[in-house]
Amino acid sequence: YQAKSRHLEYAFYDSSMDENQRKNFFIHQEMARNDFLNQLVLYFQPLHALGCSKLVGAEALIRWHHPTLGLLTPAEFISLAIESGEIQKIGHWIREETCKAFIYFRENGCPLEFISTNVDARELGYNNFTKEILDLLEKYDLDPSNLVLEITENSLIDNFERYHIIFETLKKAGVRWAIDDFGIGYSSLSYLERLSFSILKIDQSFITSMVTSSNAAFLIGHIVDIAAKLGYQVVAEGIESRAQMQKLLEISPNIMCQGYYFGHPLPREEFCKLLPAKEA
Ligand code: C2E
Ligand code: MG
Ligand code: MG
Ligand code: MG
Repeated sequence: YQAKSRHLEYAFYDSSMDENQRKNFFIHQEMARNDFLNQLVLYFQPLHALGCSKLVGAEALIRWHHPTLGLLTPAEFISLAIESGEIQKIGHWIREETCKAFIYFRENGCPLEFISTNVDARELGYNNFTKEILDLLEKYDLDPSNLVLEITENSLIDNFERYHIIFETLKKAGVRWAIDDFGIGYSSLSYLERLSFSILKIDQSFITSMVTSSNAAFLIGHIVDIAAKLGYQVVAEGIESRAQMQKLLEISPNIMCQGYYFGHPLPREEFCKLLPAKEA
């Protein structure tokens, strides 16, 4: 049964719901609407080589421009979409738009080495994730190394064995996997050895405390060492200041950088126009 109007939709509210529950209820309904995907927009945040202006990649980050709720961040709807299963169609839309954006950037004066997109481990449980990716690469004629799939350490914990075959198959095809938000979850260094991922993204919380805490700087240094020895490329996330970047340069010259200091996430047109060049 599809409610015909807003008024009817509200009729399903339980009066005991608090404000937050009501909002989530509304968001659930809005995601089921036919025109929902038209309201989604991908934003892109640059990834730079450390200490230089060289743009190497971009991360696609989803936003929802809702007609009455305004701009919604992924934190406000992605977990709801996972709960309801809507993530299936959203995720597919995101990955297709990500491939299109890679080409758009190439054709509009900001060619990238790679573009990355976020995947929740629960999305891997739906049919044909591997085929979806391989089909997209073929459809848009991308080199598999142009695509990076980010997955958070936390969502991997219970799912590592289960999706091992997906990780391996896509990796063999040349797609790279990145561990996102590394270091804040139930981090186990053993994952690094077992996972055969290619990129490790150090969580922003380490970067934030790095300038003031010698322990954090020490930890980052060792994470970078271990990662490099295991063949990972490292990305430092959430760099907001020049001081943080300089500290990172002391730790290692070979990491990639992402954060507001280099650029905020932007729609693809603005990404091309406003891309800041940052020198160390
Ligand atoms: P993430 O993948 O770790 O993305 C980085 C988040 O940190 C982004 O927030 C980004 O805007 C923010 N950020 C980047 N640089 C800085 C900085 O210098 N300072 C601060 N304070 N924040 C910074 P966003 O876009 O709100 O995304 C949050 C999370 O939502 C992402 O974390 C990712 O886990 C999830 N997400 C985003 N897009 C998607 C998607 O397309 N699919 C799925 N499944 N999850 C997504
Ligand atoms: Mg990410
Ligand atoms: Mg991240
Ligand atoms: Mg994060």
